[in-house]
Amino acid sequence: MTHPLSDRINSLPVSQTLAMAAKARELKGQGIDIISLSLGEPDFNTPNFIKDAAIEAINQDYNSYTPVDGYVELKEAICTKFKRDNDLVYQPNQIVVSTGAKQSIANVAQVLLNPGDEVLLPAPYWVSYSAIAILCEAKFVEIPSSIEDDFKITPAQLEAAITPKTKMVFFNSPNNPSGSIYSENEYRALAAVLEKYPQIYILSDEIYEHINYGVKPFSFAAIESMFDRTITINGLAKAFAMTGWRIGYLGAPQWIAKACTKMQGQITSGTNCIAQRAAITAVLAPIEKVQYMVDEFKTRRDLVLDLLGQIEGFKLNIPEGAFYVFPDISAFFGKTVNGMKIENANDFSLFLLEKANVATVTGDAFGAPNCIRMSYAASVVQLKEAIQRIKEAVN
Ligand code: GLU
Repeated sequence: MTHPLSDRINSLPVSQTLAMAAKARELKGQGIDIISLSLGEPDFNTPNFIKDAAIEAINQDYNSYTPVDGYVELKEAICTKFKRDNDLVYQPNQIVVSTGAKQSIANVAQVLLNPGDEVLLPAPYWVSYSAIAILCEAKFVEIPSSIEDDFKITPAQLEAAITPKTKMVFFNSPNNPSGSIYSENEYRALAAVLEKYPQIYILSDEIYEHINYGVKPFSFAAIESMFDRTITINGLAKAFAMTGWRIGYLGAPQWIAKACTKMQGQITSGTNCIAQRAAITAVLAPIEKVQYMVDEFKTRRDLVLDLLGQIEGFKLNIPEGAFYVFPDISAFFGKTVNGMKIENANDFSLFLLEKANVATVTGDAFGAPNCIRMSYAASVVQLKEAIQRIKEAVN
């Protein structure tokens, strides 16, 4: 039986990252020993100094609605962070705090995109970018890259994708899923193209900023000619191990921030008051306080690259940030492996789930059909076991 759902929801794909995580949970619930490398979620606890700030907020009776765009103290703290880490000067009226960076991105898309507008997505890109564009009835246009280019696009590719209908381009560095980081020079070269097209707005998703292994990411809005056209997205989930607290934020031209506040005011209102109070402490904390997690991710990255590199058919780049590896596994396409025919990345991801009991996410979800994504935000023991199982299944 078909239910009378709207065309809007019927046209929306399911989030593949969340779907794979749910499937892994379901199989675990059935007693199957699944190792889930699907979801991008730190496996650390939120640091105590942040938890203490939340407990204090509860005891101080923070329980009312907050301003829709966030507490003033939090917006001021975010301005301090933008200046400290990114050399960006925003005023509090240019900041909007939301229920996760995902809502920040959705707000921006909703307030800027009309049906038929085109959004450029350098691929691979995070799963929800395309879905968020679909919800706005905009058309997303993929700009492909490959492992040979370290999953980065060139200025010529960017320019070739631009049409009179192009309204936005989404950048994400460090990138989910590839872990690649655009250097300042690479970003400046892309900006030189965009300078010729003043009708295009840039969304720069910097949620993995602090999870980098030596190369400090550059903020796109720090390019002077781009500042008035760029929306900088960030949040606390990844660097502070606060995924479930749902705090994301943006810095943008005031007119965009104001429109996002209007949108949010009709959908969710201000985000959770306790999480916002704790966020003030997190945002202002010296980043050294959470460096231990980044150091641990680096150890795991090196381990995963070493072990996966020993399996024939896995082609790898060296991710400079985030906590994913994104191997090109197209060498398996067209082969029958361990009794299963592999035609594409989706098949390979299912193969790993069934034959190795390891959950990954197909590259199709990220606009990169030759790859799969594996999150190494899991313990060293689990990672070693997962890769051993993969090796056995493939051999
Ligand atoms: N951003 C994370 C990921 O890509 C969390 C899940 C999601 O919201 O998609 O796995």
